[in-house]
Amino acid sequence: MTLKGLAAFKAEKARQAAAAAERERPRANYFNWKHNKNKGKPNEVYVRFLQEFDESIPTFNAERGLPVMSVEHQAPGKEGFKRRANCTKESEGQCYACERHQEDRDLGWQQRKNFYIWVLVDYKDGEGPQPVVLSRGFGSSFVEDLMLEVELDPNNQITDKMWMIIKSGSGKQTAWKLREAKGVELYDDTDVELIDLEEAALRPIPYEKQPGYYGAVYKDGDPVDDDSDEAPADKPVRQEAGELTW
Ligand SMILES: [Zn+2]
Repeated sequence: MTLKGLAAFKAEKARQAAAAAERERPRANYFNWKHNKNKGKPNEVYVRFLQEFDESIPTFNAERGLPVMSVEHQAPGKEGFKRRANCTKESEGQCYACERHQEDRDLGWQQRKNFYIWVLVDYKDGEGPQPVVLSRGFGSSFVEDLMLEVELDPNNQITDKMWMIIKSGSGKQTAWKLREAKGVELYDDTDVELIDLEEAALRPIPYEKQPGYYGAVYKDGDPVDDDSDEAPADKPVRQEAGELTW
C-alpha cells in the first residue's frame, strides 16, 4: 500500500485509530456451531441461558442484565462481518451505513436487527460449559421461539432449565430450533462472571469514525486487503453472522 497526500494520510490515521479501539474493547466469545464436538450430533447443542427477559422475574440477576436487540450495520462483502456497528441514525441523527444504503440498496449496507444473549454452552470439547454470547437475527424463528418459551413459562423464567438447540438446513435456510432439555442436569453457573452484554457485543462507533471503521474491510465496492493493523478480528466467532436471516 502506498499513500500520498494529507487527506490520504489522515484517512489512514483514522483507520488505524479505529482498529486500535477495536482491539481494546472487552472480548467475548460468540456461540458458534463450528466448535461443537457433540459426537454424532454436530447440529445439536445444550445451553443454559444466563439472562432472564425482564427485571421483574424472580431469577433476574442485575449483574448479568437483560438480553439486548440492536439495530446495526455491517460492511458489505465477504469480510464485512468483521466490521459490525450500531446504527447511529437515531442517536446521532446521521449514520454512514444508512447513507451508503441510500446510494445503493443492493450492496448490503442495510440495517440489521440483531439479538444477543449470554448462554452457557457445552461444546463437548472437554472444556466443560463456558459462557458465550449467542447472536441471532431478531426476526429469526429462533428468537420468536425463545420469546414464546418465556411467555409460556408460568414465571417467565428461562435460566432455571436446560435447553437444546437443533440446527437444520444451511445457508440462508438455516433454522435453529429450541427445545427444553428435560432430564438434563442444569449447568452450574455459580462461578460464571460476565462482561456487560452491551459492552461485549455492541459497537458504538461515532459517525465521524464510521468510514474508517467499515473501510478497514470494505472500500468502494472492493474488499480492502487485510494488513497487519487489523485486530485478529472476530473471524472464527462471527462467521455465523453470514447465516443470520433477517
Ligand atoms: Zn444506520
